[in-house]
Amino acid sequence: MEELLLRYFYGVGRSPVGSILGRITRSRAYVLTYHRVLPAAEHARERGQAGLSVSVEAFEEQMSWLAAHCVCLSLDDLVSGNVSTRERNVVITFDDGYRDNLTHALPVLQRYGVPFAVYCTTRFLTGDCTMWWYEIPGLLDQRQALDFTWRGRRYRLALGSSNAKLRAFRRIRAVLMSCDAAQQADLLDVLRGHERPRTYESLCLSAQEVRELDRDPLCTIGAHTVNHDVLANQDEPTCRRELQESKTFLEQLLDHRVDHLAYPFGGKAQAGHREFQLAKDVGFRSAVTMVNRPLKMTEEEALALPRQPVRWLTRAQDLEGKLNGWSTLCRVNG
Ligand SMILES: [Zn+2]
Repeated sequence: MEELLLRYFYGVGRSPVGSILGRITRSRAYVLTYHRVLPAAEHARERGQAGLSVSVEAFEEQMSWLAAHCVCLSLDDLVSGNVSTRERNVVITFDDGYRDNLTHALPVLQRYGVPFAVYCTTRFLTGDCTMWWYEIPGLLDQRQALDFTWRGRRYRLALGSSNAKLRAFRRIRAVLMSCDAAQQADLLDVLRGHERPRTYESLCLSAQEVRELDRDPLCTIGAHTVNHDVLANQDEPTCRRELQESKTFLEQLLDHRVDHLAYPFGGKAQAGHREFQLAKDVGFRSAVTMVNRPLKMTEEEALALPRQPVRWLTRAQDLEGKLNGWSTLCRVNG
């Protein structure tokens, strides 16, 4: 159903009605968020997992469409105001630091000459590759129900169907995202039944691979904090450390400045004025959120740039509705 609704929604977005109404919230430039680009079989499995991928085929169609219809820019160009005043400007970004950005996305981006940024979670580069957004769906997959008590509250989650598993994942995710780092570690320990966490090294870029990506002139490496926790839930010294240490780590790894940041999760509840100010204090030149609102290209906005997500179901033809103001007007992020 979700899929049909999105097809209809972006169908209207492409129509003259969508295009005219979209003008109300249309921006000169858009930043698109990707996570993973996977071959079809792996991409199909992702839906029941974190749902963070697009297929290589869909990605190729999207880059082809963007190269034909937009000016694709680097983050530096966007932040410097070096944008086309006649055409739509688009910046491609990838969050977290997945290996497929190098193996599957890069060849496509090179083919179309599209600049892009990869925001790296730096603990992945030191071999600490736990990711609850993969681990929890894996845990739920093995069970028919989950019953646990945490902080005095009992949770009884039915897991009898894939929809029930998805609902349970969303419920647990909401709790995890309301926690600070210590609470989150505690809840995850309960959910794992005090077993060791699963790690996902094979999914993550290594330090060597980030250097390899960085050598490509199309690529900008940015920071995505050390631990990928919700910054707004951490105390100020922790938040500052997350920003500073990820920046310094990458600068030492790459031997040049790292000016750009993506706030983990990046919604209004996960990064706000305190985080924007800290990002500025630490010396970032730009920082991206996951808030879908018009991009105004003002100097103050550089540390709180809006973005549009590209998700599992996004097709090349849906990009029109994302880049003409329609999805921003309707606040749809699918
Ligand atoms: Zn992320």
